[in-house]
Amino acid sequence: MVRTAVWWDGLREAEHAALRPGLPDRLDRRPDVLVVGGGAVGLATGVACRDAGLGSVVVLERADRLAAAASGGNGGAIAPDMHALTDPAPFVAFGRASRERYRQLDARWDGAIGLRTTRWLQLFAPGSTPVRWPQGPAFAPLTAQEVGELEPDLAVPEGGAALLVSGQRAVNPQRLAAVLAGHAGTVATGVEVTGVRTAGERITTVSSSVGDFHPGAVVMATGLVPPPWSAGVRQRWVKGHMLATAPGPWRLGSIVSGPDGGGTPLPDGSIVCGGTFDADLSPELSPAALDELLTGLRRVLPAARDAQVTHQWCCFRPLVEGRQPVIDRLPGTTNGWVSAGHFTTGIMLAVGTGQALASWIDTGRRPAEVATFGLPDPVA
Ligand SMILES: Cc1cc2nc3c(=O)[nH]c(=O)nc-3n(C[C@H](O)[C@H](O)[C@H](O)COP(=O)(O)OP(=O)(O)OC[C@H]3O[C@@H](n4cnc5c(N)ncnc54)[C@H](O)[C@@H]3O)c2cc1C
Repeated sequence: MVRTAVWWDGLREAEHAALRPGLPDRLDRRPDVLVVGGGAVGLATGVACRDAGLGSVVVLERADRLAAAASGGNGGAIAPDMHALTDPAPFVAFGRASRERYRQLDARWDGAIGLRTTRWLQLFAPGSTPVRWPQGPAFAPLTAQEVGELEPDLAVPEGGAALLVSGQRAVNPQRLAAVLAGHAGTVATGVEVTGVRTAGERITTVSSSVGDFHPGAVVMATGLVPPPWSAGVRQRWVKGHMLATAPGPWRLGSIVSGPDGGGTPLPDGSIVCGGTFDADLSPELSPAALDELLTGLRRVLPAARDAQVTHQWCCFRPLVEGRQPVIDRLPGTTNGWVSAGHFTTGIMLAVGTGQALASWIDTGRRPAEVATFGLPDPVA
């Protein structure tokens, strides 16, 4: 649940309106492509299907606004190179291709997405640096002293180190959703999909709170794998808290992340912190989790000791256990696809995912770049 994500306040009126399209007067009941879910992945899929010339597209979102879940409450980082530290090469390559796609879309739409170029500073405690630093022009390992020269207000423990990763991107994720919605076909909010009917291997009917649809192709972009295909899939939501501060008397030019805490500077000098990984599934805010974020920020950025918190919220990451994202056909169907489990990187990957799905629908062949993102075998 997104309570008061700072991102909403940064939008113009037209962008607020774009996030709340409601029920359009004309809703094609036989669209070429029906996308279920108006988060970043669903909207980006709608855009890619329109771009690929797949015909009419309808996107249905059950909440009263788009990006109502994690897609509107996340940190807005598009930082694929960071994943060279933690993830397999195909995942990093997919993230880099998605970042490039963002660049192209933002250029085509005259900067409407507001894609910002930024750098990421990953801090390491003394004695915990990687055995091998990632190689390439984006990466620069820094000593504590070099970090001090780059970001004078940061407190880095003596003997600590950092990896500076340049060329990353960041967005206001709610602006992103508003802009994608304008290019995603017909988008409706307040419409819940309640079931599907199949004939043989074809999804023939998608039932919803406003009646039935008979689409050519269906993409489930519902965060987690929806029923009935969820049977036997180990998946769950993982709660994360975020907060934002008012601008303050600090200098910070990098997204900072490390074992002690961190934050993302916004252009106005405010800072967004998060997210935590919390065990509970309650939509309530946890003062302890928010305190952890603020304490961490103050630890790495002592100048933020009097930072004024302006926004705090929580939302839920979709996780398919043991997987990176799932981008696959719906089992047993010839015209159904699913994109789920984007966990901590759904903004970074959204437009790449959309492109891959559009290509798959178009050609009938699984794109090579998503070959490793199949649904797990069901657990008995
Ligand atoms: C605290 C936090 C920080 C994060 N920071 C980042 C970050 O910096 N960078 C990054 O890349 N990622 C980040 N993420 C991850 C990212 O937010 C998610 O991976 C991404 O938003 C998932 O997008 P999605 O569209 O798959 O799912 P969702 O955002 O969950 O959207 C799915 C939508 O489907 C709708 N829906 C579900 N069922 C139905 C139905 N039956 N009928 C109609 N609609 C339905 C839901 O209402 C929802 O709006 C963060 C996540 C969290 C929690």
